[in-house]
Amino acid sequence: MSYDPQNIFARILRGEIPCKKAYEDAHVLAFHDIHPQAPTHVLVIPKGAYVSFDDFAAKGSDEEIAAFVRATGKIAREAGVAETGYRLLANIGPDSHQEVPHFHVHIVGGRSLGPLLVKS
Ligand code: 5GP
Repeated sequence: MSYDPQNIFARILRGEIPCKKAYEDAHVLAFHDIHPQAPTHVLVIPKGAYVSFDDFAAKGSDEEIAAFVRATGKIAREAGVAETGYRLLANIGPDSHQEVPHFHVHIVGGRSLGPLLVKS
């Protein structure tokens, strides 16, 4: 799948659409999900053009990957969920129902989250 520069997160990165920013550095932007599923629901995205975790893991530089992992931990700690626990979630491709084709990790927490997957 090739990267679509018109996807909504690319537009947020370009400042064309507003977001409620939680964190930013040279490689990473994080913002609050527009439809939060828990008291804390933050989306962490690399600034580079990667479609999914699969794409990022294959093509991201070591610097981008290290920055992303470090930032994700820091954002969760600063959101106050590191002590009580949280879930990291990344949807990748059709079976996962990935909605936005720019790699993102959801940080979800602030309440007991229940089972990992809903039975279909
Ligand atoms: P996915 O299913 O791709 O893993 O999750 C995409 C997430 O992006 C969803 O949780 C959805 O609520 C969120 N989202 C979609 N559009 C926007 C937007 O314009 N702004 C923000 N902040 N979140 C969005």
